[in-house]
Amino acid sequence: MSQGDERQSEIATALADVRRRIARACEAAGRDRSDVTMIAVTKTYPAEDVAALLRLGVLDVGESKQQQAQAKRAELESSAGVDAAALRWHLIGRLQSNKARSVGGFADAVHSLDRAKLVRPLADGAAGRPRALDVFIQVSLDGDPERGGAVPQEVVPLADAVGQRSELNLRGVMAVPPIGSDPAACFARLAEISTRLQADHPQASAVSAGMSADLEQAIAHGSTHVRVGTALLGRRPPAFG
Ligand SMILES: *Cc1c(COP(=O)(O)O)cnc(C)c1O
Repeated sequence: MSQGDERQSEIATALADVRRRIARACEAAGRDRSDVTMIAVTKTYPAEDVAALLRLGVLDVGESKQQQAQAKRAELESSAGVDAAALRWHLIGRLQSNKARSVGGFADAVHSLDRAKLVRPLADGAAGRPRALDVFIQVSLDGDPERGGAVPQEVVPLADAVGQRSELNLRGVMAVPPIGSDPAACFARLAEISTRLQADHPQASAVSAGMSADLEQAIAHGSTHVRVGTALLGRRPPAFG
């Protein structure tokens, strides 16, 4: 087997395992498997890994940084036999205000909207594209804004601001459990915040939660979008968390 074939089969095995975990978690929670979308988090991994996932039917990929995502997309677009146009790019990393406009012009979904000043550049960047940009509001569950995320009281006002812009499609909320916290308690809290949001924005029912280590708990608490990196692709260098 060539190195590429070996990597392809390694990813296929890992993907089958993650898909099984998701299916079991849905079954345990009495939820429909089709309620949960798996986003493959490909940050720090090469474009060939994205191509391998795509061959296995994975269409949703998550990246922390737009520049890296864009470079991979460009590489895939010029690769023979890769249907790069089928991919949906989810931006899951901290958004810088000076990059928000270009993220709006590039991404299919943004999971990390956490402050009002990003709404306008994101929407302006998304203007003129064939489809509205899917937006998740990232919630901080420990009140430490340094790590990203809006405090829970800011979620509805932010949602109202997103709702003002037709270029943006408010999908719901997102969170990353703070280091050292109990993920199940965090996901329960996020579910409450989601319920509160839906009272004002009934269509914003999506919940982006759950990663390699805790996707079962997230699905038990209503996650609709799990973001899975290491369980699919292996360990990243520590600096990239
Ligand atoms: C890196 C990252 C993930 C994936 O985490 P794994 O533990 O590798 O599955 C999910 N969400 C966000 C926001 C990330 O930055």
